[in-house]
Amino acid sequence: MAESKLSHIVVLGAGFGGLTFCEHFRHPSARVTLVDRTNHHLFQPLLYQVASAGLSAPEVAQPIRSILSDRPDVTVLMAQVTGCDLAKRQVFLDHEILSYDYLVLALGGCTSYFGHPEWEQFAPGLKTLDDALRIRSRVLLAFERAETASDPSEQEELMAVRREWNWRAHLPSWRAPCSSAISVGLTLGAPASS
Ligand SMILES: Cc1cc2nc3c(=O)[nH]c(=O)nc-3n(C[C@H](O)[C@H](O)[C@H](O)COP(=O)(O)OP(=O)(O)OC[C@H]3O[C@@H](n4cnc5c(N)ncnc54)[C@H](O)[C@@H]3O)c2cc1C
Repeated sequence: MAESKLSHIVVLGAGFGGLTFCEHFRHPSARVTLVDRTNHHLFQPLLYQVASAGLSAPEVAQPIRSILSDRPDVTVLMAQVTGCDLAKRQVFLDHEILSYDYLVLALGGCTSYFGHPEWEQFAPGLKTLDDALRIRSRVLLAFERAETASDPSEQEELMAVRREWNWRAHLPSWRAPCSSAISVGLTLGAPASS
C-alpha cells in the first residue's frame, strides 16, 4: 500500500509505554513514527546501580533502532517534542512538524519537589542517564576527596552517604510519603541545619 494511504500513528516517548506499544502494534494499513529525545531506551529501575557505580550506562540503555530493527513499519526519530495541536493533528518537534492520524502519548513523568524547587539542589532527580552519571560523579569525587582529607570530621562528612533529614516534616500530610528522587538525593547532603 502506498505510504500516503497508510494511517500514520505517531508515538511520543520510547520508554516502557511507547516501546511496548510499538512492539505489539502491527497493522497492514498503518505506519508508525516513534519519537524520543534520546536514541536509546532506558531501563530506569537500574538507574540506581549506575548512580552507585555498580553498572555502566550501556548495561541499562539500548538503542531504540536496534530493539525495533525487525520493524520496517516503524520509523524512529530522535527529537524533542515541544507541543501538539490536537485540532490540527500535528506534533511540534524541535526541527519539524509531524502530522498524524492517531497519537500515542507516552512521555513519562518528571520529578516532583512538592512545590519546593529549592530542594532540587539537595535531591537531584534520577530519571535519565545524565542524572545517574552526575550523581555517580559527585559520590565518587567525594570519596576521593575523603581519601586525602586530613581533618577527620571533614573526612566523615565526605564519606556520609546517608544523612538524616526529617523531610517528612516538610511535606503536607496528605502527600505520598516517598519519592525516589528525594530518597536518593538526600544521600548527597541535606541542609546542615535540618
Ligand atoms: C530510579 C527509578 C527506579 C524505578 N524502579 C522501578 C521498579 O523497580 N519497578 C517499577 O515497576 N517501576 C520502577 N520505576 C518506574 C518506571 O521506570 C516508570 O514507571 C516507567 O519508566 C514509566 O514508563 P513511561 O513509558 O510512562 O515513561 P518513561 O519510561 O519515563 O519514558 C518516557 C520517554 O519519553 C521521552 N521524553 C520525555 N519527554 C520528552 C520530550 N519532550 N520529547 C521527546 N522525548 C521525551 C523520554 O526520553 C523517555 O524515553 C522506576 C523509575 C525510576 C526513575
